[in-house]
Order: sequence, then structure tokens, then C-alpha cells
Amino acid sequence: MSLARSALLRASKSPWLASQMTQRAFARRAVKRFMPGERLSDALDAAQALTPAKIGTIITRLGETLTGERNTDEVRDHYLSALGEIATRRLPTELSVKPTQLGLDQSIDDCARQIAPIAARSAQDGKTLWVDMEDSSYVDRTLALYEQLKAGNDKVGLCIQSYLFRTPKDLERLLAVKPAIRLVKGAYAEPADVAFPAKKDTDAQYVSLGLRLLEAARAGGAFPVFGTHDMTIVNHLVAKAADLGVAPGQFEVHMLYGIRTAEQRALAAQGHAVRCLISYGNNWFPWYMRRLAERPANVWFVVRSAFM
Ligand SMILES: Cc1cc2nc3c(=O)[nH]c(=O)nc-3n(C[C@H](O)[C@H](O)[C@H](O)COP(=O)(O)OP(=O)(O)OC[C@H]3O[C@@H](n4cnc5c(N)ncnc54)[C@H](O)[C@@H]3O)c2cc1C
Repeated sequence: MSLARSALLRASKSPWLASQMTQRAFARRAVKRFMPGERLSDALDAAQALTPAKIGTIITRLGETLTGERNTDEVRDHYLSALGEIATRRLPTELSVKPTQLGLDQSIDDCARQIAPIAARSAQDGKTLWVDMEDSSYVDRTLALYEQLKAGNDKVGLCIQSYLFRTPKDLERLLAVKPAIRLVKGAYAEPADVAFPAKKDTDAQYVSLGLRLLEAARAGGAFPVFGTHDMTIVNHLVAKAADLGVAPGQFEVHMLYGIRTAEQRALAAQGHAVRCLISYGNNWFPWYMRRLAERPANVWFVVRSAFM
């Protein structure tokens, strides 16, 4: 892992830096590149604006490792009312949630109790509820959580990360429940005994996991989502899908708001199912630092914003 990336990921955990940065106008200006605004309505307006391009959306409220029942009740109720807004506005928008926002630090059962009503409401509207994957200390609990949720509701999807050594085994286990899987490379600072230090290995494992998902999709045993801006990988997997006879509606490509915008539009125009993940909320610091870490050159954008 590069020095810049590991420094940015370390900084993402600093409460002092978080409180400094979130108050600075220049930082708030820079964040706008990846997030249309802090309010739910900002995210929904941005989702609406993408509909003419046939780009679906996913929204997520930033914040992680919240504890305490009052907090998790508030998050659950917020997402339930967000689903109401989405239905009123008839948006092609799904939700993605972080398990630690909904009680995973307390217990798997507490978390499942909070997520189940969101998943039920989301499924009522024909939408999949997506579950994010956080750092490697949460993987076992998140897999168990997903299996529990999936047993009660088919329209739940899970993120898995190609940088972890363990993920091929996890995927084989998950295939037993015919999962919807959003495959990503992984965004956290992980030690060398759990994750590939070299990006080329993460990329190679991404491709082999992607192929495994497409083979499973061909037999009706998985719904693959490629969550990446790596166009070499996207183009490769899209071509493989065609070779295997996996039709465009049987898999999706998901990207983040503000990244590879032209490519998102081009894929959608070619008839592929594309969704753009839009974040909102005022607790954006750790998430924003992870976006900077993915491309340390983005730091110059922040520096420039300080002088604009
Ligand atoms: C829909 C979606 C959901 C995600 N959910 C999770 C999750 O639940 N858990 C998790 O650990 N991670 C998640 N991630 C983040 C993911 O793990 C990667 O950190 C992130 O997608 C960057 O990796 P990449 O696949 O785009 O590949 P990279 O090889 O990092 O990037 C490929 C190219 O994309 C462009 N690019 C990538 N990132 C940026 C950026 N920040 N700014 C500007 N350009 C950029 C660059 O041109 C780069 O060369 C998610 C990503 C997406 C798209």
C-alpha cells in the first residue's frame, strides 16, 4: 500500500481532524465533488437528475460505528422514511446501509432486527436493500447477518471485497443462498496478513471472483454487481457476461457519484444496468478520506479548493 494511501486511511480515524475538516468551508466545497449535499433531498434531487440517462441510483447516509439503541432506532426510522420519499417521487433508487450504523457492534441479532423492517419495506417496492462491507474485523458478523436477513427476505444484497484473502471462500459459502453480490476491491486499511498489499493481486482476484459470479448467474444462482470504476475490469467482465450468455439485466455495474461519470452514461446508453451510489449526511469525514485514499491525486483538489 502506498504511503499516501496509508496516511489518508490513518487520518480517516482521527476525531480531531474530522471535527476540524467538517467545519471548514473549503473542505465542504471539495466534498461536493463526491456528494451532492448533506440532506436526503440533495441525494434524491441528484438521483432524479440521473433518470433521463437511465442511470439508477442507490443512496446511503454516511456514518459508521454508531452504538446505542436510540441511535440505531433513529437510523432505521430515517431509512424507512427515505423509502417513503423514494416511493412518492417514483425514483429508481435503492438503499445501501452500513451494519455498524444499525447495531452490529451490539450484536448480529440487534442489527438484523433493525435492518429487517427496512429490507421488508424496500422489497415491498420491488427494490433490493444493499448491505455494505466494513473493515475485516466485521466480515464474519456481516456474513452471518446477511444469511439471517436473506433467509427472511430474498431482496437483500451484500458487498464483498476482492482485497481480502478469504473472499473466494466466503463467496463459495454465500452461493448457497443465491446471493445478490456487489463485488468491490475494498476501501479500508487492512494488515498484510488479511489483504493483498499489492493492487495487482487485488485486481486479479477481482476478475476471478467476477467470473465466478457470472458463472453462478448463468445457472440462476447469483445476481452479480460489479462495483468498480476500473474500466479495464468492467469491460472485461461485460464481455465475459456476453460470452456466457448472461444478459444485461442479469447483472449490474455500480459506481460512485462524481467518479467516471461519462463512463456511467456510456454503459447505460449501451443498455447495461448501471447504478450510481450517492452519499449524503453530515458525518462524511471518514468516508471522504477513503475516497481521497483511493486516488491520492484528489488531495490536490482539496488543496485547490482551499484557495478558491
Ligand atoms: C457502488 C460501490 C459501493 C462500494 N461499497 C463498498 C463497501 O461496502 N465496502 C468497501 O470496502 N468498499 C466499497 N466501495 C469502495 C471500493 O472498495 C473501492 O475502494 C473503490 O471503488 C475504488 O476502487 P476501484 O474499484 O474503483 O478501483 P481503482 O483501481 O482504485 O480505481 C480505478 C480507476 O477509477 C478511478 N477512481 C477510483 N477511485 C477514485 C476516486 N476516489 N476519485 C477519482 N477517481 C477514482 C481512477 O481513475 C482509477 O484509476 C464501493 C465502491 C462502489 C463503486
